Amino acid sequence: MRKLYDIDSIRCFKCGEEYFFPHGPGRVYYYSLVEIESSMDRLEYKDLISVIIKPVWCFDCEAASVAEDIPTIREFEHTYKAVSDGVEIEVPFCSSNIPVKESQEILKSYISWKMNRVAGEKCLHCGGANFLTITEEMNLIHDSCEDGVFCHRLAARGPFNGPIYARVYSADGEFKLEGNANYSHVSVNK
Ligand SMILES: [Zn+2]
Ligand SMILES: [Zn+2]
Repeated sequence: MRKLYDIDSIRCFKCGEEYFFPHGPGRVYYYSLVEIESSMDRLEYKDLISVIIKPVWCFDCEAASVAEDIPTIREFEHTYKAVSDGVEIEVPFCSSNIPVKESQEILKSYISWKMNRVAGEKCLHCGGANFLTITEEMNLIHDSCEDGVFCHRLAARGPFNGPIYARVYSADGEFKLEGNANYSHVSVNK
C-alpha cells in the first residue's frame, strides 16, 4: 500500500542550497471529473478527486516540484480490495474516518478516471513531462556544485491553520483554476 510523501524541500549537503516544492503549505490538488467552465464559481467535492502527488526534480521548471503519480488500474483494484477487507489506506485518500461503502465509491471514481486517462504524468507546476522522481534512496547530484548531493527535508507537519488553497486540474492533468477549499466545496477565485 502506498504511503503519503511528507517532504517540504530538498537541500544540498555540500553547499546548503535548498529547494522548496512549489505552491507552499496548505495546498491541495484535485482533478475535476466534470468539464470546467469559466462561469463556474464553485466546485462540489463529489465532482473532485485528489491528485496523487510525488516529489520530482523538474528539468523544465529547473526546480524541485510535484508531479502526478498515477497508479495502474491493478493497483487501484488492490486498494479497493484492501478497503473492502477493512484495511485503512493513506493513498489516494485517508480512509480512517470514511465508511467502507463510501471508500469503495471513491475508488470506483478513481478506476473510471484512470480508464479514461490518456496523457502521461505531468509536473503540476509547469505541465511538462520532463522530470525525475525523487526517491529517498537516490543520490540526486546538485549540478551547480561538483559532487554535491541532495538530502530530503521532512515536512514539519503540525495542524495547518492557514487557508487551504485548491489547485484544480482537468482529468487529463491540465491546470484549470485555483480556489479556496471550504468545508463543503471549492470556491473559485475569479
Ligand atoms: Zn550544492
Ligand atoms: Zn515543471
